[in-house]
Amino acid sequence: MPVKYEGPTTEMEKAETSVFGIPVSRQDKLEDERIRREVQQKRLERTQRRQRRNRRRLLAGAWAAAAVALMVSYHFGLRALWYAAPKGDISNGGVDISQIRYPDWIDQAFIENPVARTGTPLTEVKDLAIHYVGNPGSSAMGNRNYFNSEGVEVCSHFVVGLEGEVIQCLPLNEQSVATNQRNKDTISIEVCHPDETGKYSEVTYNALIRLVTWLCRQFHLTQENLIRHYDVSGKLCPLYYVQHEDAWLQLKEDVGEELNAYR
Ligand SMILES: [Zn+2]
Repeated sequence: MPVKYEGPTTEMEKAETSVFGIPVSRQDKLEDERIRREVQQKRLERTQRRQRRNRRRLLAGAWAAAAVALMVSYHFGLRALWYAAPKGDISNGGVDISQIRYPDWIDQAFIENPVARTGTPLTEVKDLAIHYVGNPGSSAMGNRNYFNSEGVEVCSHFVVGLEGEVIQCLPLNEQSVATNQRNKDTISIEVCHPDETGKYSEVTYNALIRLVTWLCRQFHLTQENLIRHYDVSGKLCPLYYVQHEDAWLQLKEDVGEELNAYR
């Protein structure tokens, strides 16, 4: 018995699908299929674009969050590290002199005599240079005022007085005129003395040790960074401590002891 063909005839095919009852031809169906694929493709592309945009936004958000976190942490903590980092006016040990806190036993009385106060920047501190004023019985303020008088061409950073007073005559970022070729990398300290020998009195000596110890701490130096004017130019200054080498070594030792005591 022959199998009856039951597939769609052209007529049936034509009538098979319809939109609102209107028959759709094979050609129309192919066109529909093409449009459907096109729409799907466009939808896919739109989705991919949206995903890419979202990824970009997420990345931008992450960067912004990182920037904010950095600013906040800088404000509350990293700023301290920033200040501790080398960047200051004096490069030795990365010391920023604007951050130095002065003890109350240092009296600042900067001179204004433009000849003695040259204003030449002091950019590194390698040593501390010790002197004696060479004028027995004169006071710290008397010597400071001398530096400030017209025509005088010398000035040290500090003068230590007979009563243990300490006067600062120059800012620490300016060179002194006291230690010849070492003005460029030393802080200079003049010390008063009661008589011609140039030996410091006990109270003056102790004030000097305190000042030197404080400076060593500020500039990351040790007692080995103490020098005499004599070591630079051969001048008999500080007289007593040139003539008595043992007294000079003792002075350095005393500074070392003081440094180790409170390190
Ligand atoms: Zn000197």
